[in-house]
Amino acid sequence: MFGFFELEVARTRRLSTGMQRVTFRAARPGGLAEFASGGRDQRFKLFLPRPEDDGPTDPPPVDAGELWYAAWRAQDPDRRSIMRTYTVREQRREPGEIDVDFALHHESGPATRWANGCLAGDRLIALGPTDSENGGVDFRPPPGTAEVLLAGDESALPAIAGILARLGAGTRVRGWIEVGHPDDIQELPTRADAEISWLIRGAGVRLTEAVSAAAPATGQAYAWIAGEAGEVRRLRRHLVGRANLDRRHVTFTGYWRRGTTEEELLEEAVLAAAGAAAGAE
Ligand SMILES: Cc1cc2nc3c(=O)[nH]c(=O)nc-3n(C[C@H](O)[C@H](O)[C@H](O)COP(=O)(O)OP(=O)(O)OC[C@H]3O[C@@H](n4cnc5c(N)ncnc54)[C@H](O)[C@@H]3O)c2cc1C
Repeated sequence: MFGFFELEVARTRRLSTGMQRVTFRAARPGGLAEFASGGRDQRFKLFLPRPEDDGPTDPPPVDAGELWYAAWRAQDPDRRSIMRTYTVREQRREPGEIDVDFALHHESGPATRWANGCLAGDRLIALGPTDSENGGVDFRPPPGTAEVLLAGDESALPAIAGILARLGAGTRVRGWIEVGHPDDIQELPTRADAEISWLIRGAGVRLTEAVSAAAPATGQAYAWIAGEAGEVRRLRRHLVGRANLDRRHVTFTGYWRRGTTEEELLEEAVLAAAGAAAGAE
C-alpha cells in the first residue's frame, strides 16, 4: 500500500512569511503513476539528503519492502537520509505533481532548511501511498457526525486545507488555525458550510483558549486536531473533558514537539513500544 518514489523539485513558491510550497514531479518519466494520495490529511515520508558539509548520504532502503523502517533505523545515523513526515497538500495528474507546504519554523530543522533553500531539479526520495484507501489518512468522521471541528497550527494547515477541500456541501465545520504572521492566512476553498477562525501567535488568544471559548457543538461532533504535541494534548483534554465529546470521536496527532526533533520523537515511540511489548509478556 506504500512505495518509494524518486521526486524532483519542479518549482517552489513562497506562499507567505511562514510557508513555502514545494511542487514535486517524478524524477523519471511516469515515476509518479503509482502514487495515489487519499487526500484529506494524507501523510507521507520524505527522505532528505544530509547537508553537503555532513558528507555523503546513504540512500533509504528502497528494496526493504515492509521492513523499510527497521532497515532505515539500522543504517548509520550519521550517514542515513533524514526522514520527516509531511502532508500531501495536493496531488495532480497530467502533469503528475505533488504539492507539499512546509511551515518555516524558527527552530529551523533540516527539513525546514531544505525546503527554504531547495531549487528546481533537487531530488529526494519519498515513501508514499500506492492506494488511495490507506492507513496514512486519519480524518475519519464516524457516521452520524453533525459537526466537524478542526484545530491546528501551521504544520496542520496543509491537512486542514486538504480536509476542507474534500468535505461535501452542507457539512457543518468550525475550524481554528494558529499561524505566525497575518499573511500566513490562506483562502481555504470548500463546499462545506465552514466557519474558520484564524489566530495570530503572539497576538493574544491561543488555540485551546479559542476553542474553549466557542459555543458547544450541537449534535454529534467529530474533532480532528494536530500541531504541537503539548497544545494538542491540552485541546484534547478540553474536548473530551469539559466539552464532553466522545473520546472515540476525537482524532488527535502531535505533529511536532517543542524542543524535540522528529528522530527523537521516533526513538521515544520505539522505546515505548518495546516497553509495552515487554510488559505484555
Ligand atoms: C502526520 C504529520 C504530518 C505533517 N505534515 C506537515 C506539513 O504538511 N507541513 C509542515 O510544515 N509540517 C508538517 N508536519 C510537521 C513536521 O513533520 C515537523 O514540524 C518536523 O519536525 C519538521 O522537521 P524539521 O527538520 O524542520 O525540524 P526537526 O529537526 O524535527 O526539529 C528541530 C526543532 O524544531 C522544532 N520544530 C519542529 N517543527 C516545528 C514547527 N512546526 N514549529 C515550530 N518549531 C518546530 C522542534 O521542536 C525542534 O526543536 C507533519 C507531522 C506529522 C506527524
